[in-house]
Amino acid sequence: IFSDVEEAQPIEVFHLVKVFNEDKDPSKVNLTIGAYRTDEGKPYYIPVVKEAESVVLDGTLNHEYLPILGLESFTKAASQLLLGDITQRQEEGTIFGVQSISGSGALRVGAEFLVKHLKCTTFYYSIPTWENHHLIFMTSGFQDAKTYRYWNEETRSLDFDGFCEDLSNAPENAVIILHGCAHNPTGLDPTEDQWKKIAEIIKEHKLIPFFDNAYQGFASGDLEKDAWSVRYFLSQGFEFLCSQSFAKNYGLYNERAGNLTFVLNSVEDVKAVKSQVTMIVRGMYSNPPNHGARTVSTILNNNLFKNEWINTLKLMTDRIKVMRKSLRENLENLGTTGTWNHITDQTGMFSYTGLSASHVEYLRNKYHIYMLRSGRINICGLNTNNIKYVAEAIADTLLN
Ligand code: PMP
Repeated sequence: IFSDVEEAQPIEVFHLVKVFNEDKDPSKVNLTIGAYRTDEGKPYYIPVVKEAESVVLDGTLNHEYLPILGLESFTKAASQLLLGDITQRQEEGTIFGVQSISGSGALRVGAEFLVKHLKCTTFYYSIPTWENHHLIFMTSGFQDAKTYRYWNEETRSLDFDGFCEDLSNAPENAVIILHGCAHNPTGLDPTEDQWKKIAEIIKEHKLIPFFDNAYQGFASGDLEKDAWSVRYFLSQGFEFLCSQSFAKNYGLYNERAGNLTFVLNSVEDVKAVKSQVTMIVRGMYSNPPNHGARTVSTILNNNLFKNEWINTLKLMTDRIKVMRKSLRENLENLGTTGTWNHITDQTGMFSYTGLSASHVEYLRNKYHIYMLRSGRINICGLNTNNIKYVAEAIADTLLN
């Protein structure tokens, strides 16, 4: 029965990690996958996460099922982290969260809901975007994948006019995927004024915003600032969906803690919407897992833990900023071909370097430096020990 199955393409980022791990060269550098690394190049187990986990384990009496829509102490706190003081809206039910299998699962459940219950057929994503958006939305039943312009290759900055023009041409009821902050892969976010314009177009053309918030805290180090775009849409009376991932900002990649927030304007709609999301989750994986969500909830609902977490986030983002600055300085001091201000203009974990696929290949073959074919690097893979080596390698590559 399996003989006609065709092999799928490997997923680039996980394939590169595998090749990297097999590479025996001592100077190898991994700038591929979006995971935080310390200055020693090690994964980071955030101390307050460890503390909260022991509280969770001590308090675990059994492993009974969670409700289908998840742990309420988690979803409530997660939606508040995203949208600020929304307790009244939460009490009346017009804002509610659905615990999800990390950010990907939130997108998947939300997308299926939009197809099934709002009859959506078309979605728009930025060029470029996180490569999984397309697969998740198509798997959820969308028929038409459309793109909006985002990155201007020549100026290495946001193509805001192109972005607006493409949104203006989108058909009514099209779903627009918007990165709440720290756009993956470009590290470029619209300014507040630009967000206002985006909101205007979305309202005028009756489009449906679906925010993807996988990096709150990782753009500026400030949780409130990073939530500005989503909160602006809330303040303007939009109805929308927003996915959240706690993989990056808690270092809980494999625990799959996520939340999908629904923002509705009418109390009358709440019961039906909730019941239909319940059906989607029931038919997809039935119940969410406990550990990651319970850990995040333990931190968000305890001021001491929460403050410790905020301080750690700040330390992580500060390290990223130092690495950006240092990479740019090293490249400029070496007289590397081109301009490098975009490295420090961009925010979040990633930098879209502007290196071409052939540069990327050269860097891998000659220097054992790994990055995505698009030239995207994870800044967290840089540290005081390898930054000079990486800059020199890039400088050499651009001469060849
Ligand atoms: N959205 C974006 C833009 C991302 O970069 C990621 C992680 N790479 C996700 C969503 C979801 O990640 P996860 O499912 O691991 O939370």
